Amino acid sequence: MSERLAAHAQRLFGLTLSAAQQAQFARYAAELEAWNKSRANLTAITDVEAVEIRHFLDSLSLLSALDIPLGARLIDVGTGGGFPGVPLKIVRPDLRLTLLEATGKKIAFLQHLAGVLALADVQLLNARAEEAGQMPDQRERYDFVVARAVAHMPVLMEYLLPLARVGGLCVAMKGESAARETAEAANALRILGGQVARIVPIQLPAVAELHHLVLIQKVAPTPRAYPRKPGAPAKKPL
Ligand code: SAM
Repeated sequence: MSERLAAHAQRLFGLTLSAAQQAQFARYAAELEAWNKSRANLTAITDVEAVEIRHFLDSLSLLSALDIPLGARLIDVGTGGGFPGVPLKIVRPDLRLTLLEATGKKIAFLQHLAGVLALADVQLLNARAEEAGQMPDQRERYDFVVARAVAHMPVLMEYLLPLARVGGLCVAMKGESAARETAEAANALRILGGQVARIVPIQLPAVAELHHLVLIQKVAPTPRAYPRKPGAPAKKPL
């Protein structure tokens, strides 16, 4: 199965997966399936080929759009079963990765996964984004802040931007609604210190809808009042 993933990654994104990395992806798919059945509700996607495309390849699309320096600090907000953070870490083991997730059961899976995949330099943070954004060792500490399928853009910006250093980049992985949601986030971006850099379309094999990476540059510090307390961003979006 991982040969098919390797072929797609090479053709679409110019990424060469080693035999060891292919084995890590195969093990990841197996662990997802096992935990999904028994313990945590990690993914609605269960078919192996769909996992490869909609989880692994979709996550790796970030590497085609971003120039990530060696040893960069990256946080994946609302990572769930580890997307996009874990596939990125498999392909770029130099990344200093933080996986942020509010649900304890999912953190337990990620802890197990990091062990079986022998991932080094991964911090697991069981917290809400609104809490992490106010922690001194997390706030404005990251070169890259990424998220997939976590919240609508105006809300998501209040989760992501406080974690990025000035000059860092936030990436929202979105579907067809990317441009509209980004327009709706104009006020949040102005308040929080973000600026739209680029929207990159991503076409995945056998996926009808176009995916988009919304790249937001952090251009100014985020005011101390943000993020607001847990729940407030979603209840009263900026
Ligand atoms: N990013 C993963 C993916 O694309 O497969 C998971 C997406 S899942 C739909 C959304 C995840 O974000 C859930 O695991 C949820 O617990 C987490 N989440 C939602 N709001 C959050 C918040 N404010 N702080 C931390 N995690 C959050």
